[in-house]
Amino acid sequence: MWRPMRFSSALAAGALLAAIAMVTAPAAASPYIDVHFSIKVIRHPVFQTRPPIDDGGPQLLTDAHIDSMFTTANDSLLVTYWRGYRFVLDEIVDIGSACPFGCLQSNPSYWYGATFPDGSGDMLTMETEAMGNPAFVWRTNAVNIYINQGKGDGAVASFPPPDPRSNHIVIVGSRVFEPDYIHAFAGSTFAHEIGHYFNLPHPNGSVMPCCNPSTCILDGDGLGDTLPDGPCFDQDDLSDFHFGVPYSTLGWQDAMAIDDIYWNLMGYLHPDQPYGQTFMYRQTEDQLDRWTDAANGVRAAVRSGQTWFVSTAGSIFGSGSSASPFFWPSQGIGSANAAGGDIVLLRPGTYAQNITINKKVTLRATRGGPAVIGS
Ligand SMILES: [Zn+2]
Repeated sequence: MWRPMRFSSALAAGALLAAIAMVTAPAAASPYIDVHFSIKVIRHPVFQTRPPIDDGGPQLLTDAHIDSMFTTANDSLLVTYWRGYRFVLDEIVDIGSACPFGCLQSNPSYWYGATFPDGSGDMLTMETEAMGNPAFVWRTNAVNIYINQGKGDGAVASFPPPDPRSNHIVIVGSRVFEPDYIHAFAGSTFAHEIGHYFNLPHPNGSVMPCCNPSTCILDGDGLGDTLPDGPCFDQDDLSDFHFGVPYSTLGWQDAMAIDDIYWNLMGYLHPDQPYGQTFMYRQTEDQLDRWTDAANGVRAAVRSGQTWFVSTAGSIFGSGSSASPFFWPSQGIGSANAAGGDIVLLRPGTYAQNITINKKVTLRATRGGPAVIGS
């Protein structure tokens, strides 16, 4: 289970000192923002069975495997680096009907063995079909994830509009649940793909065959606090490139900057991170900001509440986004949904304001440091 951490992140726990007048009775409102998921399992085109999870054997995917994936993603990943979001499994639906003499694309079972190679356009083709065809059980208020056999031990997610490839669908191969991989592998893969869904690219700016540091360590996501990276390089390579010394000699801040890309949830595997045995978990403040902005905006349909940013560098004319934060905590509280479910996110600093909280709202600090309210 997860622990409630109102008013602060894990690092800043207890650091927010508030002069708060509670004018409503304590409520049982959730301090989290729910992100809703609809899981579709594509059945075999002949046998109508679920796809297998193991590399060679007959073990088929079960609901328990999917539940475990959510538990890992929520309890091992989201609570380590998060902004108060929770993945909520709304439903698991089996789709597709038998077509032993060949399936049409309009039958979900056609996609049982699809591999979705890069550049093929298959993601967009299936997405277009799925959004208009009731057999695919498409939901407009949840992330639609399709689990098939053909994607194997990988997964692929859509970036939001205006990405030309596809914008909504997520495909997960059934063998990410392979029991011989690390326990966290399905959850880790799932959380990584949902990072893409919320507009996070890889920090790695090149692909594995590119191994010349001077040309292959590149900025893959355009974010300021994820250093340029490339999957071919170990921590010493990256440290040498960025700081000119081995990783073991770095001060803690520089070491953390390397760790933030090397162990990044959105990173690609490096040489000593063997596939299926590496737990990638870190996210930086800039990554969490981008995730949150997507949740507030282009992905609003799949989540419950809104996040309102407040910063000592913000403005009384701000919009409450990460790039245009409010100046006063009262602006965030005033904007929050009166019915509850929103989060007011306080950047580090001291807010010289006495505030009144008159609605169900969660105040959070960030990993960037403590937030203090009080005049
Ligand atoms: Zn990826």
